[in-house]
Amino acid sequence: MSTRRTFLVAGAVTAAGVAVPGTAAAAAPDRELQRILREIDPARIEAIVRKLVSFGTRHTLSVQDDPNRGIGAARDWIFAELQRHAAASDGRMTVEQQSFIQPVSPRIPAPTRITNVIATLRGSVTPERIYVVTGHYDSRVTDVMDAVKDAPGADDDASGVAVIMELARVLATRRPESTLVFAAVAGEEQGLYGSDHMAQQYRDAGADIQGMFSNDIVGTGNAHDGTRNDPRTVRLFVEGVPTSETAAEATTRKSTGGENDGPSRQLGRFVKQVEPDGMNVRVVWRRDRYLRGSDHISFLLRGYPAARFTEPRENFNHEHQDVRVENGIQYGDLPEFCDFGYIARVARVNAAALWSLAQAPGTPKGVVIDTTRLTNDTTLRWQMGTEPDLAGYEVVWRETTAPDWQHSLSVGKVGTITVDLSKDNVFFGVRAVDSTGHRSPVAAPKPSS
Ligand SMILES: [Zn+2]
Repeated sequence: MSTRRTFLVAGAVTAAGVAVPGTAAAAAPDRELQRILREIDPARIEAIVRKLVSFGTRHTLSVQDDPNRGIGAARDWIFAELQRHAAASDGRMTVEQQSFIQPVSPRIPAPTRITNVIATLRGSVTPERIYVVTGHYDSRVTDVMDAVKDAPGADDDASGVAVIMELARVLATRRPESTLVFAAVAGEEQGLYGSDHMAQQYRDAGADIQGMFSNDIVGTGNAHDGTRNDPRTVRLFVEGVPTSETAAEATTRKSTGGENDGPSRQLGRFVKQVEPDGMNVRVVWRRDRYLRGSDHISFLLRGYPAARFTEPRENFNHEHQDVRVENGIQYGDLPEFCDFGYIARVARVNAAALWSLAQAPGTPKGVVIDTTRLTNDTTLRWQMGTEPDLAGYEVVWRETTAPDWQHSLSVGKVGTITVDLSKDNVFFGVRAVDSTGHRSPVAAPKPSS
């Protein structure tokens, strides 16, 4: 393993033009991504949302053997659609129904079959590296145990299912370098049961999931409450301190910081940097909204980097409500409150993130900062990646009070570097770069000792 020793100070780097504030990894979408973004079709998304609403209810405890009503009908339709998309993939995309029996548990009064419908598009170069995107196809009304009443769930969460289905259609004909998984999960409203099972299956298999996104309530930028429409913003909720942090890791973090440098935070920074034109990803530094959660939590619990997309503001009269008119107010999660162009733009944000992740090298692993002795410079080490198009690495850093990376230094195809900056004064990270300039998410170093 080669070693390079680089002498630099922040000022000198700035003078040399290496420092790129904030958007150090920003890059124009490559041609293939531009074509992918153009193919995402609001009309198809509208058709998906309306079809899902047509099943009446998609409650997890609803009927599973009626061809027209209930969650079973929705499951079979999603499965058939994804299989149709997979047929255009030359065998790269496979579709499965991942079923299990959820035993009696909170909000599950009797053992119940729950089925995730999962389309997996195998990567062409690094198939073992996986990125997952989900929406949940179950729905609910006011009483979370009511499996009979109409529960249209247009925004929550037919919108998210439409995102993953449209992405599966458009990407099935492509050859991403890494594996992409498009999943419609169930049991979310009862307690994230579908995604919990899915994430555990991956964990048990030792799957290398380097990013996961839940699209949940991505139906509109318009809260329909008199406030201004915000049709070009989507929120991305990303935790800081990992949900899966161990006691030992907490001790280290309390000593040296890092609460703003968990793997999900780095994923959030990455998504922001590749956001497509015409859409603003408003990154929110918390795991989810007050009192709420979504399927990303199932992946966070297993130590996978994960985040949640959701619309910029919500109208709570339209979520988790019986469909009714009361005092002249329409309650219920109806398709008339969705903006299908908006959902398409959210799908494009997801496409840009997933494609950019899949084409870039993986997030560097085993990144450590040498803490074996007291020095005023900084030595970083990491495992070299094995991607055939790996070009090298960049060390990034920022003031400890800055929200995003402020400086980057290309250090070549090496596994260790010493820089003339004190580890006590800035936060460091490392990312990988390929021969066409795709950059990986940043990995923050752990102390070596
Ligand atoms: Zn939801």
